[in-house]
Amino acid sequence: MNREKRNVIIIGSGPAGLTAAVYASRALLQPLVISGRTPGGQLMITSDVENYPGFPEGILGPDLMVKMREQATRFGTDFVDDDVSAVDFSARPFRIMVREEEYLSRAVIVATGASALWLNLESERKFMGKGVSGCATCDGAFFKNVHVAVAGGGDSAMEEALFLTRYASHVTIIHRRDKLRASPFMQKKAFDNEKISFIWNSEVMEVTGEKTVNGLVLKDVSTGKSENLAIGGLFVAIGHRPNTDIFRGQLPLDEKGYIRIHDGSKTDVEGVFASGDVHDHRYRQAITAAGMGCVSALDVQKFLEENS
Ligand code: NAP
Repeated sequence: MNREKRNVIIIGSGPAGLTAAVYASRALLQPLVISGRTPGGQLMITSDVENYPGFPEGILGPDLMVKMREQATRFGTDFVDDDVSAVDFSARPFRIMVREEEYLSRAVIVATGASALWLNLESERKFMGKGVSGCATCDGAFFKNVHVAVAGGGDSAMEEALFLTRYASHVTIIHRRDKLRASPFMQKKAFDNEKISFIWNSEVMEVTGEKTVNGLVLKDVSTGKSENLAIGGLFVAIGHRPNTDIFRGQLPLDEKGYIRIHDGSKTDVEGVFASGDVHDHRYRQAITAAGMGCVSALDVQKFLEENS
């Protein structure tokens, strides 16, 4: 057991967790970040980030995360690059288990983010960042005058497709059924947009290309027939899943599994705060996650002052 009681442990190392670490370490709280076995969060799988203020030329997602980590380290943040296996928030100090090791902390910031759902194709993984993306706001501008496809039939897919029409020559939405899941309003916007067309009852079986994507192999699920579609990019928008499995029974979650917060970044457990995509399924941007990470660190400072 790791007997040292920390002021604050931050679980997660995306923009929310690392911004919280920068603020908490500058407040001399000597935070410990338990960063996960694949540190850095979703930005580690994006390419250029062009909408994070302060980088007029853009910055690679992984480079941005390395810089955030360096900044947090500079002020005295410690890191454990492993996954949390269990937590006990039923009493203070809170207990956080990493394999056999147990960490104690007076306050906790949960910033474990969310994971985009993917089609689980080997070719999809191969072209990640080379024509396959999970974020139109992040990567749409790289597809100027290119015909792109969006996989999915929910609000996210409609939103991605509508955003992509700003850049792409055409957007084809590929949906596995003949009815959309998206809200009527979003459906209408997509149907009314002349740059958007639909391929129904179809699944993406393979992403093709050489260095970058040049097409898709689709299967019509009603006839079983395959067809090729020439496109230059695929945006997968089939939903996200919050990384909250280890908090079930410990923190109140909403019906989709996101952590409920109130009054800044407070969860219903006093002393436990949450920031970033683990509670936010609406904005999901690096900058909004970073902003919330800052809020959490300031909330922790206040909590520790009032509970010293
Ligand atoms: P969602 O509503 O769960 O929709 C996911 C879509 O992806 C569904 O159409 C689903 O098909 C399809 N899908 C799932 N797994 C698939 C697979 N393996 N292969 C192919 N297709 C697959 O997720 P979402 O669109 O991300 O929305 C999540 C929530 O956020 C919703 O409540 C939504 O209203 C909200 N949201 C709102 C807005 C907005 O209002 N502007 C924007 C984004 C999100 P089926 O339909 O066949 O299940």
